[in-house]
Amino acid sequence: MNASTSGVTSGKLFLETVLQNVKRATELANIPSDIYEFLKIPKRVVIVSIPIRDQNGKVTNYIGYRVQHNNALGPYKGGIRYYPTVDLDEVTALAMLMTYKCAAVSLPFGGAKGGVACDPKKLSLEEIEKITRRYTYMISEVIGPYVDIPAPDVYTDARVMAWIMDTYSQLKGRQVPEVVTGKPVYLGGCEGREEATGFGVCVTTREACRVLGIPVKGARIAIQGFGNVGTYAALHLANLGAKIVAVSDSKGAIYNKDGFNVEKLIAHKKNTGTVLGFPSATQIGEKELLQLDVDVLIPAAIEGVLTKEVAEKVQARIVAEGANGPTTTEGSQVLQEKGIFVVPDILANAGGVTASYFEWIQNLQREHWPREKVLNMLEEKMVKAFNDVVETANKMEIGMRDAVMVLSVSRVALAVQTLGIWP
Ligand code: GLU
Repeated sequence: MNASTSGVTSGKLFLETVLQNVKRATELANIPSDIYEFLKIPKRVVIVSIPIRDQNGKVTNYIGYRVQHNNALGPYKGGIRYYPTVDLDEVTALAMLMTYKCAAVSLPFGGAKGGVACDPKKLSLEEIEKITRRYTYMISEVIGPYVDIPAPDVYTDARVMAWIMDTYSQLKGRQVPEVVTGKPVYLGGCEGREEATGFGVCVTTREACRVLGIPVKGARIAIQGFGNVGTYAALHLANLGAKIVAVSDSKGAIYNKDGFNVEKLIAHKKNTGTVLGFPSATQIGEKELLQLDVDVLIPAAIEGVLTKEVAEKVQARIVAEGANGPTTTEGSQVLQEKGIFVVPDILANAGGVTASYFEWIQNLQREHWPREKVLNMLEEKMVKAFNDVVETANKMEIGMRDAVMVLSVSRVALAVQTLGIWP
């Protein structure tokens, strides 16, 4: 994948962006600077080597990370991504976002993130399983149902979570489904977990449309990234009558001014491996997708896509950040200056970790809830969090990103201050 078209920034830049957002929030909320200095450094960082022997006997040594940023509000929580450019700074930035994301939706969790630098698209299923099990083995000392609970992220899925659960359970000598969330439903997973992030993006987008007086029915939406988040956001928004006029994946972007039949598009991607070649669609450039004349733009792939240059040409009235960190600091400034309504990542995509929380509760109690119940509870939590952020934004006369950070950093800071330092 070409970094200039995928929008992948260096991990260092991403971490700087997150830290700048946290710093601004501490200043806006009058939080003492020593709290910022404390929150700047993760509580624990684990780096592991993952040697894997392929069918020909050749050994490749992958590098894996687990960054545990803060656990003042509860056990560490956050996904694991498999991606070629994963590095320590990127995983740290993502772990920090998890701390504030969980606080934004008032979950009793802290923040963590894991990653393995590898390209799953070039690996066999057996190799992915070996990497997963060895990685889990290596971090098994620092995870656990009341310590740190991993989950899926970019290019990891329910099957990978099943391997994590199994490896951890084998090591403990008993079944421990509550050590990881995002498992297959028939193995202790939560109904609705797979669609939860996209569903949350849909709910917050709908709320943003309400604030701006844009009818969702007929709203034109462009989605960058057609993975777990993008596909389910598209499905749920299309169910509300929105028109999904453009989508992209790592191979390219397509457009149809009348909107796609999302179910058929998902089937096409499943069969061919890409959205390209879908009937009645015109192929467009990925940058072009980000700059289309639409009502809502949903970056749902990877960080650093909306740079200053790209943001200057964004025409959407709403940007709902399905991905983590899709907008750079300068990009963010430009969007704000242009008066574009941003649903920031830690709010827009918090549906995934919220459903993870529901999964964790069910596992601890050996319960299984129906999908309806999960999605209703999820919607309620997302709408409440959205309204809290809008209220803070209006009261303090700040943008949505600053508002969500003020709320969540304040919650974490209060917990940190109350707990104090020990030993
Ligand atoms: N990886 C997802 C995120 O970035 C979900 C994390 C979780 O469920 O713990 O929010």
